Amino acid sequence: MAAAEMIGGAAVVAAAAGGALAWAALSPESQIFGRTLVAPARPDEIALTYDDGPNPQVTAQLLEVLAKHGVRATFFLIGGFARQCPSLVREVAAAGHLIGNHTMTHPWLAWQTERRIREELHGASAAIEDVLGQRVKYFRAPHGARRPVVLQVAREMGMVPVQWNLICQDWKPLGVDELLGRIERGVERNRRRGVATNVVLHDGGHLGLGAERMDTVRATERFIAQHADVRYVGVDAWG
Ligand SMILES: [Zn+2]
Repeated sequence: MAAAEMIGGAAVVAAAAGGALAWAALSPESQIFGRTLVAPARPDEIALTYDDGPNPQVTAQLLEVLAKHGVRATFFLIGGFARQCPSLVREVAAAGHLIGNHTMTHPWLAWQTERRIREELHGASAAIEDVLGQRVKYFRAPHGARRPVVLQVAREMGMVPVQWNLICQDWKPLGVDELLGRIERGVERNRRRGVATNVVLHDGGHLGLGAERMDTVRATERFIAQHADVRYVGVDAWG
């Protein structure tokens, strides 16, 4: 299920119950369940973040686009896929991008036991660290879904939990023009708010390797080509 649909559904439940817990668990920018990194007051900066990879069909092409324009990005990897595609993980790291933990199998962590939460986070970090030989310092919860213990475990492991302030639903077949338009409008909205953009895009799909995400690569290329004045940063530039 798409995160935004779930957030919408959760909002209805929360309103009906008169509670804010679902909002705290699912809102990308809520800080109620613990501090998360979203975006600082630097309206000229953009963190391009790519979730659910590595993906043999797409990630290498995305790396080419980013390299061509000298752009550094952040990749939140699914540990199970990292185990299956270690050379691709090495390529992402060798290109200078930041690599983060996106759990082992992409469950909704807000509804999991603490034991499962620990397994998911430790499993993904181990998968990445076995390949790269370096510590993983950033974590993004699948669907942004969390509760306090999710963030506590991430912090215990020395990771900064990262959310976002722009999501474009690029897992849907929107077409490049529509996707690019969503990115443009979101960046503009964040600039007007006086904050950087931390955009979630996808080079993979959590249901399995091989997801079709070439429109994301094409939209990335067009956006970068049209916005050479922007400072593109990894989320590690922000804390
Ligand atoms: Zn994801």
